[in-house]
Amino acid sequence: MESYKIQQHKYDVVVVGAGGAGLRATFGLAQKGLQTACVTKVFPTRSHTVAAQGGISAALGNMGEDDWRWHMYDTVKGSDWLGDQDAIEYMCREAIPAVIELEHYGVPFSRTEEGKIYQRPFGGMTTHYGEGKAQRTCAAADRTGHAMLHTLYQQSLAHQAQFFIEYFATDLVFDGEGVCRGVLALDLNEGTLHFFRGHAVVLATGGYGRAYFSCTSAHTCTGDGGGMALRAGLALQDMEFVQFHPTGIYGAGCLITEGARGEGGYLTNSKGERFMERYAPNAKDLASRDVVSRAMTIEIREGRGVGEHADHIHLNLQHLGPEVLHERLPGISESARIFAGVDVTKEPIPVLPTVHYNMGGIPTNYHGEVVQLKDGNPDAVVPGLFAVGEAACVSVHGANRLGSNSLLDLVVFGRAVANRCAEVIKPGAPHKDLPASVLDKALGRFDAIRHANGSTPTAEIRLNMQRTMQRDAAVFRTGESLKEGCRKIAEVRASFADVRISDRSLVWNSDLVETLELDNLLGQAVATMFSAEQRTESRGAHAREDFPERDDENWMKHTLCWVDDKSNVRFGYRPVHDYTLTDEVKPIPPKKRVY
Ligand SMILES: Cc1cc2nc3c(=O)[nH]c(=O)nc-3n(C[C@H](O)[C@H](O)[C@H](O)COP(=O)(O)OP(=O)(O)OC[C@H]3O[C@@H](n4cnc5c(N)ncnc54)[C@H](O)[C@@H]3O)c2cc1C
Repeated sequence: MESYKIQQHKYDVVVVGAGGAGLRATFGLAQKGLQTACVTKVFPTRSHTVAAQGGISAALGNMGEDDWRWHMYDTVKGSDWLGDQDAIEYMCREAIPAVIELEHYGVPFSRTEEGKIYQRPFGGMTTHYGEGKAQRTCAAADRTGHAMLHTLYQQSLAHQAQFFIEYFATDLVFDGEGVCRGVLALDLNEGTLHFFRGHAVVLATGGYGRAYFSCTSAHTCTGDGGGMALRAGLALQDMEFVQFHPTGIYGAGCLITEGARGEGGYLTNSKGERFMERYAPNAKDLASRDVVSRAMTIEIREGRGVGEHADHIHLNLQHLGPEVLHERLPGISESARIFAGVDVTKEPIPVLPTVHYNMGGIPTNYHGEVVQLKDGNPDAVVPGLFAVGEAACVSVHGANRLGSNSLLDLVVFGRAVANRCAEVIKPGAPHKDLPASVLDKALGRFDAIRHANGSTPTAEIRLNMQRTMQRDAAVFRTGESLKEGCRKIAEVRASFADVRISDRSLVWNSDLVETLELDNLLGQAVATMFSAEQRTESRGAHAREDFPERDDENWMKHTLCWVDDKSNVRFGYRPVHDYTLTDEVKPIPPKKRVY
């Protein structure tokens, strides 16, 4: 192995990621007086959060009555009772101050006539425990994520957080006692290696949508945090639950926000029929995402798709009129024009369910502390390690996330992490001496990949993985397709041993970075496929044709999945938290989920 010179940095806390979750944690930590480093592979305001369109939920009641308890009910039901109710209670209650706080920090929300924050209806959001329709999603036109991310970055700059921009974190570093002590990172611009030490490491690295062929997420969404967690021997949770958004642009995959249906848009099939009325008589086009995606898939399968190949669906916005489209949905009007060649004031947009969000991730409690099953304790905290945002599984989204609950999850739990760290870490506390050998494993892997000299290019393995996931871990799954998927994905992963990198340099080596990212994606692709294979029921986004019913007796539990570098897969389970944090609300007992 080549010998690398390593620069060491010491901080109270090291945050990896500068999306909504990472930034909210970062400035919260700095505000609490903790020396904080934020390490990010892309410039903060280029994180995927910038692409969020529709909005952030909070029961403000600006446009009709609302209550955070109804928000909690909707979220538990949306999760198909796999969400942890203590965490959901925490999130929905904290939503209100969290959004007001964002307003005060400067997020330019759209406004009502009286100057209040504008709120639009979103899928699965109701009043009076499922009776009425809530307008709960706070929006800055259809560029809410953009507005939020810029505001959060400004707040981070206002506090004394230290940013390490375009640094790629490769691995977590643990000491011999299982305490997380920091992270190893490559400065992409200088080509130098850095060991960031912290009393806590916060993984805020986002989702792994790029494991699929067609997804709405950015090319940077490669689940690096989940990859690092698996290599550290930690389990990932509920990886079988992958959200397909009903309205990705056909062919391109770019998102058309659910806000488009919130504003009154609707779906039609080749007969011009508004088919959602048959699948969800009450909520119709605003049923939750898993329900709408399945309905669309059935329409296409039964021959009622639109277009030359009858393989997609129409989203109609023409009737809304140019004024509403211009004011409330300017971004998606532009996307439809560029990516589908459609003028939304005149024609429908061709759409198809597209991978959008990962409900699964690194398991945490509602403080953001990473938890694992250890000696029979399902909630054993991993010392020194936190996770937040899409990388984490708190789990507030359970088996299916409701639209606009992710931006909320980012800020509520980003803040919770900062609060928790401030409780347990003394600013400026000395760092324990560590033997130089703590870096051996991380350096060994880095060096091996850097010099990989096989015969298969990274892009070829990546495409094999993406096609396998797209085919065998899709909207509908069967035991047969999943078995085949497990075999195939393990084979694709094994082919990584033969990967070839042609660029051996260290400065802006995108070949190397993409290969490190692929390694991260592969571990999570394996976890997703195998977790889906073992869960023999249908719940939320996990729809098994061979097991069409939800099975609470056997499966109301979180899947834990360990994957080693040989793709040996092991499972464990954590009970769902079916209790609340306070007695202000009672737990919501499971019932059949209909919209
Ligand atoms: C097109 C689109 C629209 C959406 N619209 C909405 C919406 O309207 N409402 C809603 O609630 N949700 C929405 N979502 C979901 C939501 O936006 C995401 O779940 C959320 O933004 C994820 O935020 P995050 O902070 O966890 O990660 P991200 O924003 O993805 O940020 C990840 C960060 O981690 C860093 N990082 C990753 N790996 C490394 C590494 N190895 N080393 C260093 N840094 C690393 C990156 O540089 C980046 O800063 C949308 C998602 C998409 C894709």
